Amino acid sequence: MEILQEKKTNVYKFGNKTADGNSQMKNLLGGKGANLAEMSLLGIPVPPGFTITTEVCTEYNLLGKEALITMIKEDVEKAIENIEKIMGTKYGDKDDPLLISVRSGARVSMPGMMDTVLNLGLNDEVVLGLAKKTKNDRFAWDSYRRFIQMYGSVVLGMKPESKEDIDPFEEIMENLKDKREIQLDTEFTIQDLQDLVYDFKDAVKKRTGHDFPTDPWDQLWGAVMAVFNSWNGNRAVYYRNMHGYPEDWGTAVNVQAMVYGNMGNKSGTGVCFTRDAATGENVFNGEYLINAQGEDVVAGIRTPQQITKLGSERWAELAKVDEDERIEEYPSLEELMPSIFKELNEYQDKLEKHYRDMQDMEFTMQQGKLWILQTRNGKRTGAAMVKIAIDLLKDGSINEEEAILRIEPNKLDELLHPVFDPKALKRVKVIAQGLPASPGAATGQIVFFADEANRYKNSILVRIETSPEDLEGMNIAKGILTARGGMTSHAAVVARGIGKCCISGAGSLRINYKTRIMIVDGKKFHEGDWISLNGSTGNIIEGKVATIEPELSGEFAEIMTLSGKYSSMKVRTNADSPKDARIARGFGAQGIGLTRTEHMFFDSNRIKAMREMILSETVKGRKQALEDLLPMQRGDFEGIFEAMEGLPVTIRLLDPPLHEFVPHQLAAQKDLAEEMHISLEAVKSKVAQLDEFNPMLGHRGCRLGNTYPEITEMQTRAIIEAALNLKEKGIVAKPEIMVPLIGTLREYIEQENVIRATANKVFEERNDSIEYLVGTMIEIPRATITADLIAQRAEFFSFGTNDLTQMAFGYSRDDAGKFLPIYIEKGILKVDPFEVIDEEGVGQFVRMGIEKGRSTKPNLKIGICGEHGGEPNSIEFFYNSGMDYVSCSPYRIPIARLAAAQAEIKRDKT
Ligand code: PEP
Ligand code: MG
Repeated sequence: MEILQEKKTNVYKFGNKTADGNSQMKNLLGGKGANLAEMSLLGIPVPPGFTITTEVCTEYNLLGKEALITMIKEDVEKAIENIEKIMGTKYGDKDDPLLISVRSGARVSMPGMMDTVLNLGLNDEVVLGLAKKTKNDRFAWDSYRRFIQMYGSVVLGMKPESKEDIDPFEEIMENLKDKREIQLDTEFTIQDLQDLVYDFKDAVKKRTGHDFPTDPWDQLWGAVMAVFNSWNGNRAVYYRNMHGYPEDWGTAVNVQAMVYGNMGNKSGTGVCFTRDAATGENVFNGEYLINAQGEDVVAGIRTPQQITKLGSERWAELAKVDEDERIEEYPSLEELMPSIFKELNEYQDKLEKHYRDMQDMEFTMQQGKLWILQTRNGKRTGAAMVKIAIDLLKDGSINEEEAILRIEPNKLDELLHPVFDPKALKRVKVIAQGLPASPGAATGQIVFFADEANRYKNSILVRIETSPEDLEGMNIAKGILTARGGMTSHAAVVARGIGKCCISGAGSLRINYKTRIMIVDGKKFHEGDWISLNGSTGNIIEGKVATIEPELSGEFAEIMTLSGKYSSMKVRTNADSPKDARIARGFGAQGIGLTRTEHMFFDSNRIKAMREMILSETVKGRKQALEDLLPMQRGDFEGIFEAMEGLPVTIRLLDPPLHEFVPHQLAAQKDLAEEMHISLEAVKSKVAQLDEFNPMLGHRGCRLGNTYPEITEMQTRAIIEAALNLKEKGIVAKPEIMVPLIGTLREYIEQENVIRATANKVFEERNDSIEYLVGTMIEIPRATITADLIAQRAEFFSFGTNDLTQMAFGYSRDDAGKFLPIYIEKGILKVDPFEVIDEEGVGQFVRMGIEKGRSTKPNLKIGICGEHGGEPNSIEFFYNSGMDYVSCSPYRIPIARLAAAQAEIKRDKT
């Protein structure tokens, strides 16, 4: 049968209030392309252009350059014609040239991760036409030298050869500046610019062996392919992996008519946000530069000016610039060009209302005419994300469900991080001030290169300015400090996106990469010296500063209340101490899903009794040691039950391999022998006896309880007595006793019998009783397969996805760190399965365990307490699998609550 296939559209045009695409087509046109189309449809003045789809990028990866050009050549030529028609100029024309830009645009924004080339279409002849047409030789030659520089770097690979080298084109410019004894780019004469063009082209020829391409169409195809290639460049790959974006998404390419911000004093370029991206405050803000082009604002080379008067005044206060100087040197756009500001202000309002979210926009003014180059949902800090969602909810722009879905659960983590202790802050020495680009507190040792950020456990990356290559190091460092750049510099935007404390534009720092020294106010700071950054005030502080827990905002509480309203799946905590239990309850934990009792024995007082128990050769001796441990355990449980009053508390019986409790160093073995009045030989031989080849698969879990039932007896007694003691005080404890690591029903029954017999004995002794449950962890594949049998006896299941992942994959939890990073780098695994549940494999064991368990007991209570219980994607999977609760560490509780609500809302919507 013949299948009729509709011809795919590869190229989508936009401009002059019309467009082939719209904002719904992000997957195909990329975020930027879809929004350009949408803006054009909204009547916003965007330079006309077209988008080559993300599907073409994927085809390019399969077919290669030549086949691809054949495939889209005709469409691209027609689309260029359309731009020519709207602009009234012609691509490659000597008298009235159209110049174009070529930019990347994936379906999600990846700031600075991929490539852009501006000013395409220039060559030795066209530049003369441009100069004649604009009556501005300087502008024409400056555009030409910028074009060669950018094209050379992005398309022809003219990059610095080592990290200490500077950009080859910058080097040529620096040499000319030295020769001419000038400081700034703006001091170059037209002749200088012409010389630079010549020298740049010469450098390209020397390094690449080819002439710089003069044909505008060759230039266009070269740039399109470079953008496609940048999807697989190091920066982009790292960013994609960091965010879990799949390789097959590809990037779109946007080709647009150039408009110029560098055509004199009525021209300029800027970046603006409809709300404050750091705090979420509802104020229009941004930065601009007069007589500048493209990346100048974000590159951080010149200090940008503020768009609004309010922003300008706030900036001047921080930068210690007085009002006269501010008005003279750094006026706001609102003051300098009121009518352009008014128009821009209208567009920002219109765009935010249209997209119902905070927008991050780029604009250019060309000789008094405003063009909007792009809009996108703005990156923001966790705090801003929460505030903006609640503010938009309150003003009726979005509903409750949308407000919940607007928050990335993992970003809540930033709000839960420590801040500087105000008491410690009183004693610190502030050495300099920069712009508060991304809030938070960071204390660490100075490094000057991003690829050295892992040199110290806590490092602060100090740079003159950052570039997209630095992303990995920025992610590793605890904080970022730059000497140049404004609030929209690369460092600032990226830091906010990854929730990292950042101070930018600290102009008083003198940084020397070669000597690895930073000088502030005459004082030298070397690599490795400690400094602290307050990203909320911009203060740079000498030395270490103590931190404390943060205070949570009212908006945060509102998001948590909403999350509670929209989720039926409960969130419990993994907690081993009353302190952790209280913290978790403060965050809204609805019980404890896992208390690992072994953690209670590592305390120095207790380890002795524990060792006595392990080393004793007789049941009697063991029971004696356990009797010493009993009151300690009982006390622990009382504290935890009290902190979780009225809520269920799952206590797991002892799980770890016994050899963890005995000393392995000779000195410690001697101490133990002396303390216990036994021979060193006896200690040594017991240690040797306990040694295992695979402790993770060894004598642990219920295998301990089944070989030493007196441990189970003691722990059960401690749990039940603690609950009864609290009952006497009027406090309700709800213990759920959990047997770990069972693979067969019989293993469980043996333990359950000991638990029930012990509990009954205690009830009899005390002539009182409490309600309690007995259940099991499901963490061995065999247990999931026989879950229907296990459910005949177990009153609840809790999935131990750490062990289940270990055993399903056959990756030792202790050793997987050696090869998993390589697996992920090579794409053998997409993510670490110990972090994000492997739905395809391990997830099927989970599903089977639930189905089989509930086939025996339809109302069986089921939860999960492995690390995945605090990971948003996994939480969605557990919700969809029918779990009653997830359990995670205390500081993940808010994230899990939000993720649980999101999972439920998403499922209701489908
Ligand atoms: C698990 O295996 O998922 C679990 C929670 O237990 P542990 O990590 O203590 O082995
Ligand atoms: Mg386990």
